[in-house]
Parts: sequence; structure tokens; C-alpha cells
Amino acid sequence: MKYKILEELKKQKESYVSGQKLSVILNVSRTAIWKHIVELRNEGYSIAAVSRKGYKLNNSNDILNMYELSGIQNIRYYESVSSTNDIAKQLAVSGSSEWTVVVADNQTAGKGRLGRKWITTPKKGIWMSILLKPCIPPWEIQLMTLAASCAVALALKDTVNVDAGIKWPNDVLIEGKKVCGILLEMNSEADRINHIVAGIGINFSHEMHDFPKELANTATSVKISLNNNGRDIEGIKRYDIIKAVIKRMKELYEQIQIGNAQPVLDGWRKYNVTLGKNVKVIYHNKEYTGIATELTNEGNLTVLCEDGIKRTISSGEVSVRGLMNYI
Ligand code: ADP
Repeated sequence: MKYKILEELKKQKESYVSGQKLSVILNVSRTAIWKHIVELRNEGYSIAAVSRKGYKLNNSNDILNMYELSGIQNIRYYESVSSTNDIAKQLAVSGSSEWTVVVADNQTAGKGRLGRKWITTPKKGIWMSILLKPCIPPWEIQLMTLAASCAVALALKDTVNVDAGIKWPNDVLIEGKKVCGILLEMNSEADRINHIVAGIGINFSHEMHDFPKELANTATSVKISLNNNGRDIEGIKRYDIIKAVIKRMKELYEQIQIGNAQPVLDGWRKYNVTLGKNVKVIYHNKEYTGIATELTNEGNLTVLCEDGIKRTISSGEVSVRGLMNYI
């Protein structure tokens, strides 16, 4: 019942609906309506109640729960998990289907690449993992890594109209600061992939003070970047970004599945902020500087190093001068 009330309030958008009208539409008493409004408020919905006018849902509500996410197939919502990748991996092992999507409002042990930590601020971001079972050989996983970053850049353009950049291989940046980190984890045999879990963390409504000191110069959120440009996130919902990421990921994924990596490579090259830049590369435990010259068709990065040698890097550490505080 409470979600039926919510639906009615959503229909009215910014105007009030009287308790009388709600009780007629839903055929329950006005006291029952009030009781459910209190429950909705306890779930975090901001609902104004004014005597003689009725109830109004505040447009700034950005709540994730099974009701809000029900339009997405195979979605699993959790208030708090260790990491959404961990849950998606468990679901994979217990036979969940491809495109199962895990979304959580909090992670207590968010993970980054190379054993690093991902800082999760509860309810302020999109912490999600997508379970994939692609029919591609394991060595093509790099294309999936790039696809995930393209999907996020495209989704941010679709929903928020911001121009994001991609730092090789898959950090998504706005105005040179990291708004999204991506971690792909693969379970494979020598020549086939059993499943991939694509973990995506997008900082959404963080204020600068939400980030710990060590991220103060390198991290941003959708809200911070919009505010910097005189805009606001009011009315933009995490739900819409989640949906857009899944849609864009599906488009790119389907092409990779039929052997067409072009849309991913084109998309990545369009949004990238790495090519043509001076970079520092850690390659086989040695450090080199050079210019990032090319993205190969396999998704690797070619760097012309200062010692005159062109190195092709498939994973590991690449820092881009002038970005992420690397001078
Ligand atoms: P990398 O940046 O090396 O590709 P990851 O994408 O795996 O690494 O993310 C982990 C790194 O991202 C951490 O070492 C930290 O520097 C940074 N980081 C962690 N949490 C956040 C966050 N919420 N927003 C922006 N950057 C973060």
C-alpha cells in the first residue's frame, strides 16, 4: 500500500495531493494514509504534509530500494554489502543469469584494481556490479574493461549531460578528477570465460568534505562537477544513471559478442584523456616516462618511452601527467 501512495505522489510531481483524494483512490482511511506516509518517511522519502493541501513528494528524493529499482530486470538491491563484486561473484557461482545486477547503498570493503581500496560513502553513490558471461576468449577481457568505462561516460552524457573523460584503461574523470572507478573480475579456464563481474563505482552526491583527505585533490562527484558549472543534481536520480549504464553496456557488449570491437574502440578513443599525453608507466616493475601514442585494437596502450622504445601495456600502472595530481 505504501508504494501505491508513493506512485500517486509521483504522478502529481510537484503539486499536493489531499489525504481525502488519496483515501478515495486507494480505498483506505485517511489515518491509514498518514500511517503509510510516516513509514515512507522512515524509509528516507521526504514528503511534505500541509493541512488543507495534503501531501507532496520532494523532488530531491534519490532513494534506492527494490521498489525504485523494479523496472530493471534481474536487479538485486542491498542496503550494505562487503562489496557488490563479492555478491555478484557469489550469485554467479550459485547459477544466476547474465545481466544480474547488484546494487548497494553501502559497501564496507569496496575494492579497486591491484588490491586497492574503493572508498564508498553510504547512499551517495552508485555502487553496482554486473554479472556477464561473454562468449569471448579470456584475452579479450580488456575490451570489456574499456566497454565498461565507455558505458559510464555515455551514460553520464545521456542522463546528466556532462562530458566525462576516460583515463586508460578505465577510470572515468570529470574535469580531470576521478568520478568513477571500475573493477572487472574474471573467472575463466585457459580458453574460455566462465563469468565476469564488472564492478562500477560512481561518486554521485558527494560534497567535497565527504572524501577522505587522500582523495581531496583527485576525486570528484557528479554533484560537485555540476555545482562547479552552476548546475544542480536536483531531480537527477541514481536510478536513471544505473539504467543508462546497463543500456549502454548492453549495446557495446552485444557488438563485442559478435566480434565487432569497433564501437568500443571508437567510443574509448573519443572520450579518452590519455592519448597524446606525457605518461609515467610502471612496466614489469620498472618506471618509464613517455608519450601515450595509441590504443591498439586489443585495447592495449602503446607508449613511446624516453629511451626510444615503444612499449605496449596491457595492464598495470599508467599515470597521466597533469591528471589526478600527477605533475
Ligand atoms: P586505479 O585508479 O589505479 O585504476 P581503481 O580504479 O581500482 O584504481 O581505484 C582505486 C583507487 O581509486 C584508490 O587507490 C584511490 O586512489 C582511488 N579511490 C578510491 N575510492 C575513490 C572514490 N570514491 N573516488 C575517487 N577515487 C577513489
